[in-house]
Amino acid sequence: MGLDQKLEDSAGVGNADLDAVVIGAGFAGLYSLYRLREMGLSVRVIEKADDVGGTWYHNRYPGCRCDTESHVYCYSFSDELLNEWEYSERYPKQQEIFQYFQHVADRFDLRKDIQFETEVESAEFDEGSGNWVVGTDDGSTLSTKHFILAVGPLSDPFVPDFDGTDSFEGDTYHTAKWPHERVDFEGKSVAVIGTGSTGAQAIPRVAERADHLTVYQRTPNYIIPARNHRLTEEDYEEIRANYDEIWETARSTQSGHPYEYTYPSVEGLSEEEIQTALDEGWEKGGFRFFHAFGDLLSNWETNDRVAEFISSKIRERLDDPELAEKLIPDDHPYGAKRPPLDYEGYYETYLRDNVTLVDVREAPIERLTSSGIRTTDAEYEHDVIIFATGFDAITGGFTRLDITGRNGTTLEAAWEDGPRAYLGYSIDGFPNMHMISGPQSPAAITNQPVSIERQVEFITGMIDYMRENGYDYIEARKESVDDWVEHTAEIAEKTLYTEARSWYKGDNIPGKPSTMLMYAGGFDNHSEKCDEVADNGYEGYKLAETIKGLADTDVEV
Ligand SMILES: Cc1cc2nc3c(=O)[nH]c(=O)nc-3n(C[C@H](O)[C@H](O)[C@H](O)COP(=O)(O)OP(=O)(O)OC[C@H]3O[C@@H](n4cnc5c(N)ncnc54)[C@H](O)[C@@H]3O)c2cc1C
Repeated sequence: MGLDQKLEDSAGVGNADLDAVVIGAGFAGLYSLYRLREMGLSVRVIEKADDVGGTWYHNRYPGCRCDTESHVYCYSFSDELLNEWEYSERYPKQQEIFQYFQHVADRFDLRKDIQFETEVESAEFDEGSGNWVVGTDDGSTLSTKHFILAVGPLSDPFVPDFDGTDSFEGDTYHTAKWPHERVDFEGKSVAVIGTGSTGAQAIPRVAERADHLTVYQRTPNYIIPARNHRLTEEDYEEIRANYDEIWETARSTQSGHPYEYTYPSVEGLSEEEIQTALDEGWEKGGFRFFHAFGDLLSNWETNDRVAEFISSKIRERLDDPELAEKLIPDDHPYGAKRPPLDYEGYYETYLRDNVTLVDVREAPIERLTSSGIRTTDAEYEHDVIIFATGFDAITGGFTRLDITGRNGTTLEAAWEDGPRAYLGYSIDGFPNMHMISGPQSPAAITNQPVSIERQVEFITGMIDYMRENGYDYIEARKESVDDWVEHTAEIAEKTLYTEARSWYKGDNIPGKPSTMLMYAGGFDNHSEKCDEVADNGYEGYKLAETIKGLADTDVEV
């Protein structure tokens, strides 16, 4: 009998067909599959794409690469895997990360438990059987004891709802839904809307190939040099000789990157010390620069010094003062929005004859026309429009699904006043449902592989604990969720994240409540709290042998 038939026959009647259903075959989903299978559980991963890779399957735009250094943009759980894989550059290209995922999937024989080209649309907790019933776009359902959402923090692409979008007769692309075939820009007038991390990577590459490139910028960003280079055998020898220490450091920092801060603050330092730390950070490039001062995101004095330094570097690079002022941020602290890196001469691109910068704060986009884009003061003709307009971040992958927990509570209702989750993983009323990179987790303000491994280990550790102690159900207590949400908000208030309009707070999505979506207290502190919760027998959770047992404790809250 085929699996689908078996599932159909037994859906909703007692034992689940699977111990765990995992949505998503990116970093988080694949590691979840690996761990759960090692524990002897029956698992199925459901992935809407036709291959593994997640982010690195969908984002294939020109210039796409990872801003985390390659030697820590990978799994650390397997020494064999670490020893056999080598990236070729300091920052890996999309193609190489995609190949890495092919290697991981093949090496651990993961594909046999992944159902590709299937989108999960709904999930309902069936109180009769005590199982989750997961519905997919092919009309079938799967029943499972544990429901793990590894849907990705940046997986729900967003396109602003411009008037006239359908009337544009040229080609449109979103950077996160890029075609697998090469897109041809030769001889074309191309528009890029958006200058965030993706725009910063794509703009120089498109400018080289297009006849003309027009960049529509709403918010200039502080874009700092990545200082990319090829990795040699010697580089890898050094990395491998120090890998244990590198991972240990990465797991002990706020950011999940393996760098210590040069100084805790600019406060108390001499001018010379500040300048030297900035110059040295600048030379190292990338997120190493970000680590010059520990209080960058909580102290205006430090942030102003760093922001001034970057602004002066932008002015040095551009001998056109008017253009430089257009490209220098004036409305947010450095790092309070995702800081992009520059690989291919981002600022110099605007000095090219074939590039035009349109400041849409001065002249907003009014509409798309059949032949291009009309702003409030001009009309531009385009053959191609590229939307580098980002994502409905953190929550989009969850809210896109139709999820119903106990007592008919929907996720929409549970998050009516804003997203809420205990430690980022769990919501009261949704037993055995586990989110990775959920709201109020450190998610996308950390180096993700490190924080994803940690989260997967917490969730799988919890499932293991349940099996060992005879519990079938776990659910976050309401007060634990409320307290964690409050704690996260209090921490955010002490930072400069609140001073920017950014996707970190949902500000890019019309109608989305503006609230810090992630835990800004540091990966290290989140991790410590997770250890404490686990060591105390999953403190803050209700554990029960039966669904009735779980429901009976509702009166406590
Ligand atoms: C352009 C870009 C650059 C980035 N650069 C960095 C970086 O430098 N450093 C860093 O740490 N992080 C970076 N990130 C964040 C990146 O998303 C994470 O590093 C990591 O890849 C997340 O892994 P994941 O498994 O959680 O999610 P994803 O990789 O997003 O995987 C989620 C998967 O779930 C699938 N899925 C979602 N919903 C459904 C559904 N309903 N049904 C079926 N399948 C579904 C998706 O198709 C996807 O394959 C970047 C992200 C982007 C978009």
